[in-house]
Amino acid sequence: KERTFIAVKPDGVQRGLISDIIARFERRGYKLVGLKLLVPSKALANEHYADLSKKPFFAGLVDYMTNGKAPVIGMVWEGPAVIKQGRVMLGATDPTAAGPGTIRGDYCLTIGRNICHGSDSAESAEKEIGLWFGGKGEI
Ligand code: ATP
Repeated sequence: KERTFIAVKPDGVQRGLISDIIARFERRGYKLVGLKLLVPSKALANEHYADLSKKPFFAGLVDYMTNGKAPVIGMVWEGPAVIKQGRVMLGATDPTAAGPGTIRGDYCLTIGRNICHGSDSAESAEKEIGLWFGGKGEI
């Protein structure tokens, strides 16, 4: 069964959007198989965003995710095409390009505060689920 990692980032938690985001996935018919509230460690955030380590915004992004001003919700959702459809439901990474009806298209305008994260491939889903949920056994 296909699984993906979806996170509500600190801005989404701070703005009270956890329940809305969960509701959208539940209503679609996807199954919630893992959920945790945490302030990620620097090591976790560095590894999660390892592909972006050369980008100028990397340090700010990791600090934002880990500074503890608000926690992160990490979730694993399961169901048909959930990796691709999860990204569709989130909307474009840059919220100014995100369509109405998507989470980002409905709630934000700034790429650095785009509320949520979703795995972009089967490989990243497997890596991210292992990273955030401790790998095999836990879920
Ligand atoms: P995500 O992994 O969060 O779903 P993505 O895979 O679509 O997003 P990436 O290019 O991997 O997009 O960027 C990861 C995250 O880095 C973005 O969601 C955003 O929070 C942050 N980010 C990307 N570009 C910028 C930027 N120019 N300035 C600030 N933050 C950025």
